[in-house]
Amino acid sequence: MAIERTLSIIKPDAVAKNVIGQIYSRFESGGLKIIAARMVHLSQSDAEQFYAVHRERPFFNDLVSFMISGPVMVQVLEGEDAIKRNRDLMGATDPKKAEKGTIRADFADSIDANAVHGSDALETAMAEIACFFPTLNIYSR
Ligand code: UDP
Repeated sequence: MAIERTLSIIKPDAVAKNVIGQIYSRFESGGLKIIAARMVHLSQSDAEQFYAVHRERPFFNDLVSFMISGPVMVQVLEGEDAIKRNRDLMGATDPKKAEKGTIRADFADSIDANAVHGSDALETAMAEIACFFPTLNIYSR
């Protein structure tokens, strides 16, 4: 299996609940290494750009408002099969449908306030990482 990198965001609901450390533990015990991290309060245009693929969806405006409602913690995770591994650790988009023991089942309240974001494919991971981290700020080994 290939070593991959993926972009993870701990969303405003989970930052407000003070569970960044608990979520980091899930990444680490799940075989992912945190190789870059920063806390950011996204602007409206940052959030609109980040979620541009969802622009036509009915939940877009609410999603953008939620993502700018407070600071988020953004990190690059590295490991074997990191993109899928992170998605597995996160659980389903709707926490009610997320498997027991996943981050969303344990820390998310609803489909819109669902604790974490994770890139869904190699290309999106590369684009999302580039959006937040210049190569200089990534510490692979
Ligand atoms: N979302 C929402 N309502 C929905 C579907 C999605 O608010 O009915 C939000 C939710 O925060 C989700 C994000 O939009 O995490 C992106 O949706 P996607 O389908 O890409 O889910 P994800 O990849 O985050 O599991």
